[in-house]
Amino acid sequence: MNHFEKYESYIPFDLLIPGNFLVAFLCLTVIVIFRYFFLTMLFYVPFYKRQSYWSQKRQIYNKLPDHKAQIFEIKWSLVSSGIFGISGVLLGVFWQLGWAEFYLSFDHYGWTYFFLSPFILSILHDLYFYLTHRMLHTSWMYRRFHSVHHASLEPSPWASFSFHPVESIIEALPIPLFSLILPLHPVIIVIYLTMMTVSAIINHLGFEVMPLRLQRWLISGTHHSSHHRNFKSNYGLFYTFWDRLFGTEYESKKSPRPEFH
Ligand SMILES: [Zn+2]
Ligand SMILES: [Zn+2]
Repeated sequence: MNHFEKYESYIPFDLLIPGNFLVAFLCLTVIVIFRYFFLTMLFYVPFYKRQSYWSQKRQIYNKLPDHKAQIFEIKWSLVSSGIFGISGVLLGVFWQLGWAEFYLSFDHYGWTYFFLSPFILSILHDLYFYLTHRMLHTSWMYRRFHSVHHASLEPSPWASFSFHPVESIIEALPIPLFSLILPLHPVIIVIYLTMMTVSAIINHLGFEVMPLRLQRWLISGTHHSSHHRNFKSNYGLFYTFWDRLFGTEYESKKSPRPEFH
């Protein structure tokens, strides 16, 4: 049995002891914050600090968000990181209690399933996100919770976690919930969460980095920045097909896409 096939390699202590729960929460929150700053800086520096001709050509808005707007986004993102930290511990608790459908041997369900599982998870997750995002746009929920995220009319990459705590809880729930029904390898979850952060940064970057041929299928900066400004379309997280299926895809014929300059 190798290192990755041992339960103790992932959770070396009892998470139901309050002190351990607290230590795990603090550690995971620090990891989430570090990952947020590290990955955002990878995009922030080349696009906001050292612009090249290549990046300038891809700018979506006329004017980039100022420092005040960026600080606002970072503050809310730090609060969200704590909530994501709690959901990480919750995932561990589900595992410890034997509720989560985790498996430890990579080929337990076959290699095909191992590689397919993040895509299955992302489609389910996207549907969850789409439906809850529509709910957050009802006037009662929008005014109380979702307006924090939309305060960034033209978001910067720091907006990727910029949510009201109630919205952060809604965002933090799907992975622990899906772990109860979908067999997943912990390594897949770690990679998935990191890719989720990268995707959120790209969608809020303010520059279009997605190749045109992928933009029909995957949510891009142009797609999501349009949602921040017109509120009535483009609710999806990773894929464009839920918006197409529910008839909420941005219709470029009615209003032109943002110009590149
Ligand atoms: Zn957004
Ligand atoms: Zn929204």
